[in-house]
Amino acid sequence: MGAARFRFYAELNDFLADENRGRELTRYFTVSGSVKDFVESFGVPHTEVDLVLANGTPVDFSYPVRDGDRVSVYPVFESLDISSVSRVRPLPLRSLRFVLDVYLGRLAAYLRMAGFDALYGNQASDTELAGIVARERRVLLTRDRYLLMRTAVDRGYWVRSTEPKQQLLEVVQRFDLAGSTRPFTRCLHCNTILEEASRESVLERLPPSIRDKNTFRLCPSCQRVYWAGSHHERMSQLLRWVKAHLPASPTA
Ligand SMILES: [Zn+2]
Repeated sequence: MGAARFRFYAELNDFLADENRGRELTRYFTVSGSVKDFVESFGVPHTEVDLVLANGTPVDFSYPVRDGDRVSVYPVFESLDISSVSRVRPLPLRSLRFVLDVYLGRLAAYLRMAGFDALYGNQASDTELAGIVARERRVLLTRDRYLLMRTAVDRGYWVRSTEPKQQLLEVVQRFDLAGSTRPFTRCLHCNTILEEASRESVLERLPPSIRDKNTFRLCPSCQRVYWAGSHHERMSQLLRWVKAHLPASPTA
C-alpha cells in the first residue's frame, strides 16, 4: 500500500470538509492514479487548480502519484508571481468567453451587460455544456462542482455565491476582468454584439416616451433596440458597485 500527503492552499479549502481545511491530508492507495484523480477525490475540481507541486517540482495533471509523495495544490494566483514555474495548464486563457449552466441566467445577463461573451441556454444539459467547453474553448461557470470534474471540462470556475450581484463580483475578480469591461456593447438576450443605429432607423419600434433619445443600439440578431434609460442607469450602478468592492490591486 502507498501513501501520499496532500496540502490544499487558499480558497481550494472551500471544497474541503471543515475538519480537513488548512492541514496536510494523507491518502492511502493500493493502485495509484493521476494527480488529477487524487485531487478530485478530495472534492476539488481540477479546473480550480493552477499549479501542482509534487515534492517541490511542478507537475501536470497526468502525473502518477507515488508512494511517499508530498503534493501541494494551489489555486489561480491573483497577485503572487509564479510565472517562472510551469503551470498545469499550458496556455493562459486568452480572450475569455464563458458558458453558464442553467442556474446562472441572471449572471449571464450581467456579464453580457458588462460586455463579456456569455453563452447561456436554460435547457442545456450537462453533456451539452461539457461539449461546448471542449469545442468552443469557453470557460464554464457553474454552481455544480461535479460538472467541473468532467475530463472534457478543462476550463471552469465554481461560482460560490448564490446571489447574482456577488456572483458577478466573484467572476470579475477571479478572471481579473475589471480592466476589460465594455458596458452596453452586447445584447442581454442573445449575446450578440450590438451595432450603432440611427434614430430614424429604429424610430417606429420605440415607445413614444423615449423617442427624444439620441443614441440607440440595435441587436442585428434578435432586432432588439437599446438606449440609455433607467435600466441602463441601474446596470451602470451595478458595475460601479463591483469595481468598488474589488480588493485593491497590489500595483495600484
Ligand atoms: Zn439580441
